[in-house]
Amino acid sequence: MTNSLSFRRDSSISLPPRGAANVLAMNDLRESELADQLRFLVQTVQRNESTLRRFQKIELALISAQGLSNFFDTLFSSLPIDFNLSWVGLWLDEASAMVRELVGHDAVRELAGQRVKLGSSQEPLFGELLESGTPWLGKPNADNVGDALLSGLEGVTAKSMIVLPLVSQDVTLGVLCLASDDAERFASGMATDLLERFATVVGASMDNVSHRERLKRIGLTDPLTDLANRRYFDERLREEITRTARHGTPLACLFFDIDHFKQINDLHGHAAGDRALVAVARSARRQMRLADTLARYGGEEFAGLLLQADQRGALAVAERIRRAVSELQVLDDNDQNMTLTVSIGIALLPTADPGDTVSSANTLVASADRAMYLAKRNGRNRVELELSA
Ligand code: GH3
Ligand code: MG
Ligand code: MG
Repeated sequence: MTNSLSFRRDSSISLPPRGAANVLAMNDLRESELADQLRFLVQTVQRNESTLRRFQKIELALISAQGLSNFFDTLFSSLPIDFNLSWVGLWLDEASAMVRELVGHDAVRELAGQRVKLGSSQEPLFGELLESGTPWLGKPNADNVGDALLSGLEGVTAKSMIVLPLVSQDVTLGVLCLASDDAERFASGMATDLLERFATVVGASMDNVSHRERLKRIGLTDPLTDLANRRYFDERLREEITRTARHGTPLACLFFDIDHFKQINDLHGHAAGDRALVAVARSARRQMRLADTLARYGGEEFAGLLLQADQRGALAVAERIRRAVSELQVLDDNDQNMTLTVSIGIALLPTADPGDTVSSANTLVASADRAMYLAKRNGRNRVELELSA
């Protein structure tokens, strides 16, 4: 069973002193002993690799979670199964602005008590945990933080646990707790680097998810595709142009539109057309960085902002989107595959006038739009770039 949460660092294998390789007294080592050690080494490497792969799978699901329910599902349902944990919980600092955002959410209310607890940094044990900024491992009891964390939980066996600080953008959000029914699973002195890295991903993903939830709440999200809407895009565009003006970091704008979408609706029906729109939105979003913006700008037209992207970078992202969409397999109601392609226009903003961000925004958007229409005229399913907006 390979459910370890840490790399094995094996010290039982002694390596020959450096430079002494050719005088290594191989004969001194019995061959079978050497074979045993090698087999052990290979097994250790394989176990580490498998651990890393399972971490990556969970981390990807957390980072790309579309909402809080999705995020909690991965954390509280998939993680315990994949890593053989008896309980996973969050103890969140009610003073953090991000946590306050999430508290009113249905998903938090449903899980409150069993999976999600709120605490104040004024409470002695919780306050110390937040303050320390380092993981705590051990057997839970009344003398340590364990009992406080587990109090009120039903049917949970926690013979050992690890409590990891959750930090996002330098703010401590609370702690992530992982428990095991194996008393030796989490013991002080064991390597925690992989788990600390994991907690960093959980913190950043929570931040991302709370941002998404806020957008939904204040009406800046398109309900069909779950992308930001045009209002949000326009706001972000102004913010990013101000940043470009202030720091001189380049900004790229993408416009793309589904090719012959009217025909797709006519041929496959409006409902299948809607599914195609959702698939295109998801696929394009996956080709961009988390900090970039992708919005549904109009019916079947999308607008993107690529932060700190120069011409080469923007072209690479646009080409990835074009190709990913053309390779999508989306079925209509008769299980027929729909052919989907997009035409993409790019405009670049190398610098901006801090005194006139509105005109920079208009120029950039108009330029990306023209480039997109050029892509349509030049045969569709292609990328065009208009130089210096
Ligand atoms: P082109 O390659 O030039 O872009 O051709 P097109 O057919 O995509 O362009 P046109 O602008 O003529 O058609 C856009 C179509 O997109 C028409 C409209 O019915 C459809 N559409 C817009 N919003 C939605 C939507 O939310 N769902 C569905 N199913 N269709 C939509
Ligand atoms: Mg179109
Ligand atoms: Mg259109």
